[in-house]
Amino acid sequence: MDKNFEEEFTHIIKFQPPLYKQRHQFVKDLVEKYKPKKVADLGCADCSLLWMLKFCSCIEVLAGLDICANVMKENMHTLSPLPVDYLQPSERSLTVTLHHGSVAQKDPCMLGFDLVTCIELIEHLEESELKKFPEVVFGFMAPSIVVISTPNSEFNPLFQRVMLYRHPDHKFEWSQAQFQSWALETARCYNYSVEFTGVGHPPTGMEKVGFCTQIGVFVRKHAQTGESVQSEKPTEAVYKTVFKAVYPSLKDEKYLQNAVISEVIFTAQIIKHRFMSKHKEYSDDPERKSKCQPSMDCFSDYLGKLVVVKSMEPFVSGNEVYIPLATIFSFPKVNRLCGTFEKLRKLIAGKVTLSSDGSAVMLNIEHENEEN
Ligand code: SAH
Repeated sequence: MDKNFEEEFTHIIKFQPPLYKQRHQFVKDLVEKYKPKKVADLGCADCSLLWMLKFCSCIEVLAGLDICANVMKENMHTLSPLPVDYLQPSERSLTVTLHHGSVAQKDPCMLGFDLVTCIELIEHLEESELKKFPEVVFGFMAPSIVVISTPNSEFNPLFQRVMLYRHPDHKFEWSQAQFQSWALETARCYNYSVEFTGVGHPPTGMEKVGFCTQIGVFVRKHAQTGESVQSEKPTEAVYKTVFKAVYPSLKDEKYLQNAVISEVIFTAQIIKHRFMSKHKEYSDDPERKSKCQPSMDCFSDYLGKLVVVKSMEPFVSGNEVYIPLATIFSFPKVNRLCGTFEKLRKLIAGKVTLSSDGSAVMLNIEHENEEN
């Protein structure tokens, strides 16, 4: 159901938060519970649910489908990466795609999804579309989980302004018994189990009418691998892709390399700075030597622990300070980004100035003095 329309007629019964937000929150909670990697939202309208889901860190593929291209296009820019996504690429990969087409038609781009959401969609389908819908979603797409929400017509008498249906584009609105019998039959046919719940509690004393929005959560009974589903189901593409955004990710070598180089240089500069200040204190005032122990901040403590191993100690030669790569690699962020020492070497090769044997990052002392 259209959310503006819903706000209009809910002037007597007010849901807080608004019902559409409760439905989206319901999906978000489900995502947090099941951690699907690939999620498709059918009848995605203004993309507001997709926008909310792009922040769920388990999701790597998000797709939206709607029969109305204009409604998707209005807000699709909100699904594009922001400058901050490029400045700090995420560890996960994320691709968001929007398709123009009907849920009554099969398209291979809808295969391989873990979760399919149909929020306030089915009541907009013509009879012929509703007939094809189960075969497309449960038979063809066959995700592990399907969520379907639809208005509960038994709630309508509680709204003063509702004439026949809650929205002029609704083709039907079902009672709890009607929705449940359709859902149970669909689940039986395609080997899913289904559980019923909803959002929008009825007023006290009227619990019998049920939730304002009724929801069915379908879970596939037998695990199928994405590949086997795809190999059995070749179909021609019928949807038109109207939007695609590939988010910068550290899984992409290009972004990983940039992140590692910045982190290595940053870490080396900090080590050098601390090392030089200590060095200076020692040479300026030998009496302070004892006062400096133990170190006053945690970074120096950390460095102190590391340099117990002689080969990890920074050293000066001529005008250069040498920061062993092994020391830099032992820093949690560098370590996490690279995984292995070999990978660190590979990613910074030719991009960071190293000692002749490649074992240490070389930084000029002069710059330190200039900074001071
Ligand atoms: N899911 C949205 C609201 C959906 S309103 C939300 O959570 O807020 C119903 C949407 O279904 C509309 O955008 C409409 O264009 C779309 N729709 C109607 N028939 C469709 C069909 N056959 N295939 C795909 N989308 C359809």
